Amino acid sequence: MTSPVDPVKLDKLAEVAIKIGLQLQEGQDLVLTAPIAALPLVRLLTKHAYMAGAGLVTTFYADEECTLARYAHAPDVSFDRASGWLYEGMAKAFENGAARLAIAGDNPMLLSSQDPAKVARANRANSMAYKPALEKIANFEINWNIISYPNPSWAKLVFPDLPEEEAVARLADAIFAASRIDVADPVAAWKEHNANLARRSEWLNGRRFDALHFIGPGTDLKVGLADGHEWQGGAATAKNGIVCNPNIPTEEVFTTPHALKVEGHVSSTKPLSHQGTLIDDIRVRFEGGRIVEAKAGRGEDVLLKVLDTDEGARRLGEVALVPHSSPISASGVLFYNTLFDENASCHIALGQCYSNCFVNGGALTPDQVKAQGGNSSLIHIDWMIGSGEVDIDGINADGSRVPVMRRGEWA
Ligand code: ZN
Ligand code: ZN
Repeated sequence: MTSPVDPVKLDKLAEVAIKIGLQLQEGQDLVLTAPIAALPLVRLLTKHAYMAGAGLVTTFYADEECTLARYAHAPDVSFDRASGWLYEGMAKAFENGAARLAIAGDNPMLLSSQDPAKVARANRANSMAYKPALEKIANFEINWNIISYPNPSWAKLVFPDLPEEEAVARLADAIFAASRIDVADPVAAWKEHNANLARRSEWLNGRRFDALHFIGPGTDLKVGLADGHEWQGGAATAKNGIVCNPNIPTEEVFTTPHALKVEGHVSSTKPLSHQGTLIDDIRVRFEGGRIVEAKAGRGEDVLLKVLDTDEGARRLGEVALVPHSSPISASGVLFYNTLFDENASCHIALGQCYSNCFVNGGALTPDQVKAQGGNSSLIHIDWMIGSGEVDIDGINADGSRVPVMRRGEWA
């Protein structure tokens, strides 16, 4: 059977991931994680990595059937366990200079019919064990990148009415289009896209707004921005000095909100797919930066468990602006995957902030980040609050306002 995924475009995706996503350096090691279904992409990535001079490429695979076997047959105590030894090893690899590449593409609904309490326990154990490695990524100490592969189980969720092969082909095309692989010279297209995102960030950094005010159906939210916040978007320089594009695709410019200065209420505009369950129609209210009321039309029990992960889980760690006309929004495809769906619309994230989203962020200690309003948490969960009906004002320190977005587009 020939694969429904275009091999030429898949090769270009691998090339863009290595050259633009990671800018993998000669002699640099690479740690890869992937669903086993993404093996064709892993092989191409490994080829391009070694062609770029990689020292050693090491891949860890996961499999959906094996994950389900745990939920079906593992003893209860298993759900408080995680492979800490593996994450410690990864953290060590990163300390020693390795880059990180993750292939996303698991069926986001894989765990939707499992016991939410077990899912939450397993996620919590995993988040805690992952922390030493995740901190290196979240603090941007290394060059890292995420791309996606059209796993058949994911494709069938996105295109439920199509036969599997056709669904995979359609999802592959949607991934290639969103990832700007669908053009004659994807590497050049990414350089131009990065320049455009840098212009938006520079404008916002020049403005130094105190807060952003989101107004739309079910939304009246003032998001105070952290002291010394810095907007970022597209390519960025990791602390190891390498310029990389962590997310492919990416359409957002984003920064750090003030963990104590978020007021008002906000409604989600797209479903949130969170580690195997779908949370939809979210409505929350903030007081003093903290969520004091939370409802969801679907998946409310999971949402409430997420909010109870730790103290920082009820506060914001990111605010991001994406025009409503972004290619992902224009495609009309709901990917059930944050990497894509967050780039369809403006969003906020619960939990951990990015410490590099501060002026001179690389030099700040965790205490300084906190003092400037940066949030900390085991989680970082993006959800969509933008649409063609949402307006955004920038509020200056003196209370005056500047239109930032009107009806979902840059003003
Ligand atoms: Zn974001
Ligand atoms: Zn985020």
